[in-house]
Amino acid sequence: MSELVSPAPLQAADSDEPVSKLDLLGFTRTQFEALLEANGEQRWRAPQIMKWLHHRYVDDFEAMTDISKAFRLKLAEVAEIHEPEIISEHKSIDGTRKWLMKARSGSAFETVFIPEGPRGTLCVSSQVGCVLDCSFCSTGKQGFNSNLSAGEIVGQVRIAQRILSTEYPDRRRAVTNVVMMGMGEPLLNLDNVLPAVEIMMDDLGYGISKRKVTISTAGVVPGIERLCETTDASLAISLHAPNDELRNQLVPLNRKYPIAELLAVCRKYAKNLGDKRTVTVEYTLIDGINDHLEHADQLIVLLRDFPCKINLIPFNPFPGSGYKTPKPQRVRAFQEKLVAAEYATMVRTTRGQDIQAACGQLVGEVADKTRRQEKYQRIAAGVVA
Ligand code: SF4
Repeated sequence: MSELVSPAPLQAADSDEPVSKLDLLGFTRTQFEALLEANGEQRWRAPQIMKWLHHRYVDDFEAMTDISKAFRLKLAEVAEIHEPEIISEHKSIDGTRKWLMKARSGSAFETVFIPEGPRGTLCVSSQVGCVLDCSFCSTGKQGFNSNLSAGEIVGQVRIAQRILSTEYPDRRRAVTNVVMMGMGEPLLNLDNVLPAVEIMMDDLGYGISKRKVTISTAGVVPGIERLCETTDASLAISLHAPNDELRNQLVPLNRKYPIAELLAVCRKYAKNLGDKRTVTVEYTLIDGINDHLEHADQLIVLLRDFPCKINLIPFNPFPGSGYKTPKPQRVRAFQEKLVAAEYATMVRTTRGQDIQAACGQLVGEVADKTRRQEKYQRIAAGVVA
């Protein structure tokens, strides 16, 4: 039997465990075509394999009955269909679903499904933990373990879609929207996030519209530059403050890439999209910190001439955060100011709080390589860091 060649670089998870086989769930259509061609097979077989993987959810090459027996055997030898293992599943009283999944590294990350009328939004993780340390985010307090591979990122969509398709049998697909807002900073793992997003938007993958796949970033400016060249997915930025002084405290990355630089590259990205889509600005409202009306006034000035829509997210508490959720009337007043200035502004309803699945609450089980967990545990215990 001739050797199966992969011209496509295998994007292995950044883990201690070697990945010896090709991770096919993370293969884009182009990568499949190249793989087939390099192995003397027809390029048009790529759709057949992708449909088996992403539409019929098979996990055994033997089931791919329209592929030649010889090529199936070759694939089984050097490739694998690897989904992250589900460790546990939690259901909220409001219908939100959270899965704890095991990465190749052995650590665990979380994925959340939020049903809302005809829409089903999957909040997908890109890393196990996060190196950035946004002060209001529980994930940041866990430190960092590893990047997820493209296959592990796509695997989250595959798992959710497969499980939920039986619960929403009347819908073409249960997952209608994907937001890369789970654990991790997607733009620090772009080698894996980009192919994963491509598969989510491909009809042979999950066929989700580019408008409904959103990459969210805390503001990694070179990463957004790279997005300009590589994707037309929707973009969200986690702003959380209307000036650099305050943002430096909430999102330490701001010291490296201040607000003006971030908005400039976002403008470029939105222009590149060539349609009417705008960037979404995420703003977590924290009681007494960034929720004063003067902050709303500053935001109005800052975002003048920056086409965007604004999502306000009342802070979701977690143990040891030291922050409080603002009262509903404060959130309303902040929103009203922005709306009066003609900004499309939504208040994001908190979902899944009873299962710790709300925005900023995801923790997974991170074998931290940064010793940050230790630091925060010492602080929580009252020992000065
Ligand atoms: S908000 Fe996002 S970027 Fe910031 S620490 Fe949390 S996961 Fe990382």
